[in-house]
Amino acid sequence: MQVVRRGDDGPVVSEIRDKLGRLGLLSARLDSAGYDQAVEHAVREFQQDRGLRVDGVVGPETYRALDEARWQLGDRSLSYAVNHPYVGDDVAALQQRLLEMGFDPGRCDGRFGPQTEEALREFQRNVGLLTDGILGPTTLAALQRLRRTVTGGSASERREEEKLLRGSIAPAGRRVVLDPGHGGDDLGACAHDLAESDVAYDLATRIEGRLGALGIDTLLTRGPDSAPDDEDRARFANDTGADLLVSLHTDAALSAGPNGVATYYYGATLRGRHVRSVVGERLATLIQRELVARTDLLDCRTHPKAWTLLRLTRMPAVRVDAGYVTAAGDARRLADPEFRDTVAEAVVAAIQRLFLPEDRDIPTGQFRMPALTG
Ligand SMILES: [Zn+2]
Repeated sequence: MQVVRRGDDGPVVSEIRDKLGRLGLLSARLDSAGYDQAVEHAVREFQQDRGLRVDGVVGPETYRALDEARWQLGDRSLSYAVNHPYVGDDVAALQQRLLEMGFDPGRCDGRFGPQTEEALREFQRNVGLLTDGILGPTTLAALQRLRRTVTGGSASERREEEKLLRGSIAPAGRRVVLDPGHGGDDLGACAHDLAESDVAYDLATRIEGRLGALGIDTLLTRGPDSAPDDEDRARFANDTGADLLVSLHTDAALSAGPNGVATYYYGATLRGRHVRSVVGERLATLIQRELVARTDLLDCRTHPKAWTLLRLTRMPAVRVDAGYVTAAGDARRLADPEFRDTVAEAVVAAIQRLFLPEDRDIPTGQFRMPALTG
């Protein structure tokens, strides 16, 4: 491929913008298109994270890395394809999780080779699944459930969990910061007579009331008309010493088709190592689960992102994109106060669950795990 740099335009540039957007490195702005300063900055950030040469230019190496980075665990099923091995961040995440549980997938190189297959079979054998060496939905679910109860994770992850569980086990006395997205002149996405900033603020106040009733101290990052930037919001949350932050947004797309709810938590690859907020991921999973169970919004799953707010906040933080204002069905739901109450209840239920001391959906001892290394 030719090298793409600042000032360039065309379909390749759109593709690069799209990929950076999916990685949370570039916000989707409808008013810009080319390889501008924001794209160059995002490319540099990406190169820095991946340990590539940092030049802000997309050559073959950066392009390949961008392509591999778009895959997240669960996006596709994985197996050992001899002629065309699966390569991507999802494979690296799988290898990482197998390693954490004491299996040996070889190097965490993001390439699904024979050793990764062998480790996956070994895992399947251990948990009583069909040993086909394929990471499909069943194996993925087992992998995600077990990892949480089995691994201690890194020191920083353990610290985060300890902090969450310290002191009283009841929700009362906790402090939660709610972050309604956008605000002021920034209306966020607007469609079907809805402004994202209004929906987000209204959801925040509905959640605030319910959390208050549980004795949880709840703070909002903004008033109905102010619009702090993400760094200000993160600083505010950090200064309050909150236990959690929940950011509220709605999604939007250029076409009317995309719809559904997704929840995001902090996760990134830094110099080849995957880092993530364990508690953030857990809260995101709980919120997503409650929302999908209580509404008929499409399940767009949970995803790790390195967005500014998620990155700069020191407490576990999640962002909920509760439906697309650009999708007629989602917009109709979002306009309905009863639906907003349901969304608020789902978020509150998830927070309550998170604060319960033992939220284990697998009885201890049901699965036989290999001896952990070390
Ligand atoms: Zn938004």
